[in-house]
Amino acid sequence: KFFNDAGLHPVMLKNVELCGYKTPTPIQRYCIPAIKMGYDLLAIAQTGSGKTAAYLIPIINHLMGKAKKLAAPRPNPNDTDVGIRVRAEPLVVIVVPARELAIQIFNEARKFCYRTMLRPCVVYGGAPMRDQIENLQRGCDVLIGSPGRLIDLMERDHVLTFRRVKYMVIDEADEMLHADWEEEFNKILGGGEQEEGNVKYMLFSATFPTAIRQLAKTHLAENYVRVK
Ligand code: AMP
Repeated sequence: KFFNDAGLHPVMLKNVELCGYKTPTPIQRYCIPAIKMGYDLLAIAQTGSGKTAAYLIPIINHLMGKAKKLAAPRPNPNDTDVGIRVRAEPLVVIVVPARELAIQIFNEARKFCYRTMLRPCVVYGGAPMRDQIENLQRGCDVLIGSPGRLIDLMERDHVLTFRRVKYMVIDEADEMLHADWEEEFNKILGGGEQEEGNVKYMLFSATFPTAIRQLAKTHLAENYVRVK
């Protein structure tokens, strides 16, 4: 019932139905309205709580109607001219600690992006950079990636820019608190010299150590919503 009452676009409602989700999990019940209302978010949530859909549903739902207007120009898929190179300018960036999680979120994003004109991509270390760059250049609206690979791609010329990003999600943030976490997050979270409007930040973490508090204080809007 909730999904029907959550004010979602009919295409998104259909995608939720195709996933087989009938009732929202508790985290979805709180996160979906908060994100829809435009709040930044800190959610303390475990794997298995349905946290992925809790942010993917409202974010994709918001952007899908705007896909044509917001999305970067992309090459015609029928155009075989190898000279054309389009820089990836995602609208959503989801930062995750590990490759397996990245792929899992990508698969969920594919289901919610179905029939929305938004194209999801996934990047991670330990796989050839060239294939990932080629994939990004086919058009990328929702980008899921591990921090190291995201930074590598940002630092290359004409491959990836965060200038159009509207939503930045850090998932399993407490799994990324290794030695140079501050520098890494600053590079990624500060990487969107915005063209217009502001970026919404979402932080998901299973635990709530000081470093996560600090991250929330530095990067989230003052009036962020905390969900536990
Ligand atoms: P997550 O916590 O995002 O890793 O999700 C855990 C699992 O729950 C995934 O396999 C999802 O497909 C599934 N799931 C997420 N939301 C729902 C829902 N509302 N109803 C049933 N299953 C769900």
